[in-house]
Amino acid sequence: MKKVLVLKVGTAAITNGYGDIEEVVVENICQQLSILHNKYNVILVSSGAVGAGKKYLQNYAGSITEKKAAAALGNPRLIQKYAEFFQHSQVGVAQVLCERHHFSNRKQFLQLRSTCEALWENNIIPIINENDVISDHSLKFSDNDEMATLLAIGFSAEKLLFGSSMPGLLDGEEVIPRIEKFSAEIFSCAKPGTSRGGLGGMISKLSCTRLATNFGTTVVIFDVRKDGNILRAEQFQTGTVCSAQLCNISAHKKWMATGSLPTGRVVIDLGAAEALKKRKSLLLVGVKSVEGDFEKGDIIEIYVDGMEGVEDVFAVARAKISFSDFESNKKQKNVEIAHANEIVIF
Ligand code: GLU
Repeated sequence: MKKVLVLKVGTAAITNGYGDIEEVVVENICQQLSILHNKYNVILVSSGAVGAGKKYLQNYAGSITEKKAAAALGNPRLIQKYAEFFQHSQVGVAQVLCERHHFSNRKQFLQLRSTCEALWENNIIPIINENDVISDHSLKFSDNDEMATLLAIGFSAEKLLFGSSMPGLLDGEEVIPRIEKFSAEIFSCAKPGTSRGGLGGMISKLSCTRLATNFGTTVVIFDVRKDGNILRAEQFQTGTVCSAQLCNISAHKKWMATGSLPTGRVVIDLGAAEALKKRKSLLLVGVKSVEGDFEKGDIIEIYVDGMEGVEDVFAVARAKISFSDFESNKKQKNVEIAHANEIVIF
């Protein structure tokens, strides 16, 4: 089985300020991905639908409805260009439009994976974008960087390449060539803001990169517009290369930790946190408070009272009881809240 490689390209990289698709850039992307496609199962996450569609709307002012309409116009135009240039290398393309809730539903996420596998077996590269036209505003991906990251983690990708219009993460004028481990200092190098037409930015890329590397995927942030740079990025010869951390957890647990949308929040004491670290189950005795409207089987977040970084999620788990069962079981200290095999500590 080939390893998975995810390439995400941003709006500013593949369209210009007038809403034209940068054909030379797209042609180069297709030519390089056709080469990588021999070695990897490739996923292309392409932004640019809104950017490529907005010029077809009169008096476009960027309202949410106009953006949705622009995405509907831009997506087929983008896919047509990709199809045209991939055809030179006899590689097919397919369009996949996803929404956040398709990722949080494990069954649907697995269907997405099987669909991509069927496409790869047929020499076809899936081109994925958010389904902007009907994505519910309150339940959207924050940007395509996030979607590409959740795909990379959920599919256990070996590499995630962020093809941007920037040469990498800059320290002053210099590109930082390698990040082995994330720190506050690394985040302070990222400037706020996004590039033209896109939603993500360097801060979003770094948060996504930290998540992906923690779950075992190596990430490269690089300038995708330069000829040959995708092949260089795959070889770690350009941009900022962020090393994958050792991560031996199952695909299901990776999904629990990233793709799922937790519906509850449990605060536990330090003793319970120690027990979880020793791979014990979570019992009601260690729980200090519970919030949320969750059902048995839902994913819940676990925080630790009194621990440094108390505001950070310590773990996620699949709840063995519902919120209302908590109330009725309060006095039974040994009730299992989550089984050890269904807890992922960050
Ligand atoms: N889905 C949007 C588009 O295709 C882009 C989102 C983003 O920039 O991350 O235009």
